[in-house]
Formats: sequence, C-alpha cells, structure tokens
Amino acid sequence: MKLRCAECKKSYSIETGYYTCPGCDGRLEVIYDKNSEIKKESIYPGIWKYISHLPVKGKEVISLDEGNTPLLKVNRKEPEGNFLVKCETVNITGTYKDRPASVGVTKAKELGARGVIVASDGNSAPAVAAYAARAGMECLVLMPQKTPSVRYRQAAAFGARILLIDGTINDCIDLSGQICNSTGFHNCSTTTTFNPYQIEANKTIAYEIFEGMNEVPDWISVPVGGGGLLSGVVMGFKELINSNKIEKLPKILAVQASECAPFVKAFNEEKPISRWNGNCETKAITIALPYPPDGKMAMGYLKETDGFAISVQDEEIINAVDNLSSYNGILAEPSGAVSYAGALKAFRKNIIKPGQSSVSIITGTGLKSMEVFEGLDKKLYHFSNDLEEILEKLK
Ligand SMILES: *Cc1c(COP(=O)(O)O)cnc(C)c1O
Repeated sequence: MKLRCAECKKSYSIETGYYTCPGCDGRLEVIYDKNSEIKKESIYPGIWKYISHLPVKGKEVISLDEGNTPLLKVNRKEPEGNFLVKCETVNITGTYKDRPASVGVTKAKELGARGVIVASDGNSAPAVAAYAARAGMECLVLMPQKTPSVRYRQAAAFGARILLIDGTINDCIDLSGQICNSTGFHNCSTTTTFNPYQIEANKTIAYEIFEGMNEVPDWISVPVGGGGLLSGVVMGFKELINSNKIEKLPKILAVQASECAPFVKAFNEEKPISRWNGNCETKAITIALPYPPDGKMAMGYLKETDGFAISVQDEEIINAVDNLSSYNGILAEPSGAVSYAGALKAFRKNIIKPGQSSVSIITGTGLKSMEVFEGLDKKLYHFSNDLEEILEKLK
C-alpha cells in the first residue's frame, strides 16, 4: 500500500501520513498491490473486517460497528422491476458518512493529531463528531449559519464545538483547510483534496453489495453531492475485479435533484463540471452542493462503468421517500431517497431495462428530516377516552 499523487504521479510511503502531495499540493490516492485479495477478517468490527483494503496500520481502529447494512428487496405497488436498496440509514449516526468518519478519525488518531475538524452542512459533521467522541479527541465543526439545528445539535451532543460561519459550505471547507494548517488538527471533511483516506471507506459498500447478492447487480444508483460516494463505490468494484472475484463493473446511475444538478448537467452536455447557477433550493439539502469538489473524478468513474446521470424533481424525491416508508418500512431523508427516485425514473425511461437488477443506496435516515412528513398530520384522528366510540369509528 502506498500514496500516489493524482497530478504529478509521485509516490510516497503510506507511513508519511500526508494529506496532500508535498510536492505539488495535488490530490493523493491510496494504491494497493494489484491482485491483492480482499479477505474478510471478522475479528475486526464494522467496516474494519476489510482492514487489508483500508489505509491504516491496523491494531487500534475507531469503530461504532458501522456498515453491515441491510440489503433489501423493495416491495412495490407495481410488480415489474428488480429493485433492491442498501439501507445506510441504520448506521450509528443515521447515514453512510459513518464509514468515512470511522476511517478519518482512526487515521487522525494513528498520526497523533491534536483533534479533528470537519466542514459540513449535513451529515458528515455529526458522524465525525461521534467517532471523535469515541476516540477521545477534540472535534471542531464548521457549518454555514443557516444549517438546520437538528444537524448541529446532533454534532454538539457528541461534544464537538460548533462554529457557525457566516458563509457558504464552500467557505467552510476552505476555512477548515486553513485552520488545520495552523493548529495541528486533522481535516476530516469528505473531499479527497483534503483527506485522501476517507473515500476508501466507501469501497466497503461495494464489497457488501457483492457479498449480499453473490453477484454484481446490473445497476447501482447513487446520489451525488460532492462525488466521493460514487467514486468510492466504483473503486470498490474495481478492486473486486483486481482480486478476481467479479468480471464486470455494475453500471452506475448518478442522481441529483433537478434544482441543484451540476454533475448531471455536465454529463448531459458532455462538458467539464461548472458551478451551478440556480439557488439549489431542494428538499435534498445534504447533496445540494453548487460545485461537487470530487465531481471530476466521479465523472471519470461513471464513464468507466458505462453509466448514466439523471436528475429528479422534488416531487419525485418525496414520492420515493413515501414509497420507501409506506410500503417498505424504511425511513429515508430526501437526499437518501434520491437514488431510488432516480432508479424508478430510469426504469420508466427504459435506461434500466425490465429484468435488470438495480441497487439504490439509501444514504441517510429520515429521522433528521421529519419536517418532510408534516403533511401526514392529516392522518391523525382525535377521540375521547371512550372505547365504544373508538370501536364504532374503526368499523
Ligand atoms: C454526503 C451525502 C451524500 C452524497 O455523498 P457525496 O460523497 O458528497 O457525493 C448523499 N446522501 C447523503 C444522505 C449524504 O449525507
């Protein structure tokens, strides 16, 4: 295992613990021996059962038993289609971000960091804060001032200090880098240009899907915010090919909300990704990044799988949320259900063909977004404390 700069191609020992290329400040990649087998070591908790393909020295891992999430077949009103969901909602802080947080905090601890810092307007802050608590490390969180309170309170509950910044998420990300440079804190923001290690954790979703199905699905649909999840999932399948477990990659379906779809736009226009001009007002707030920092890399991976990118309206997203909760018992946040909304749309448009299998990664729990379900209050019924009246009405 070693580090290699994606820009100048210089290699470094993994022991250096570099976060960016010391030569050109480029993004680093973790390179594993080709053909090295992905073996499962069940003595380790959570995602660490795949420790041979995670970028740490081992021994002391910071885990809250993340991963091992349910892979379920979807019950649908309409019978056609072979839809499965990978329910990342059950991770300990409610989203898939627990996987990268586990690797990020483990790495920071291994390297002797004073503490960790994370810029986030959604789920990575609470995740990193939880793992920092577990590791006994200080955690600083940078969030834009308008972040919904449920998200900073969750992080604060884990003992993190919350810095609400009068700026955008992109400003917070920039500041996190600058603060790290002068404090000895390590950056656990989920952008590979800041932290090359955490994205490796997303590969474990691919390993688990393969293990759960014992084959590669035709499609995997993934919401795109920064692009790290999509990239990590493809990296995982590529490693499964390298270790001779599978022969072909699944096609990736990248999904964004129509109100904030810089990645899908670039895919459709076959152009480089540019900053989204609209106001990004969508219910899928945790993926509403006007510019995906890892988008270019993600686009490369998407093309490698011969995949497709599609955007969905908020109405379609809410329908998918409702479909998952009402018919399947799965409570997803809008960003978490975007993947499933996209799969349904791709099926209607015959991009996913009848008979093909698809796995939608349901990335986050609905418990942090209960306002989405306010409309359901009309299903409340008021009664006096009177059995006969209740039985009569229930008829
Ligand atoms: C972060 C996040 C995503 C997107 O992941 P990226 O790596 O930023 O593309 C999707 N869904 C949820 C719930 C998230 O928190």
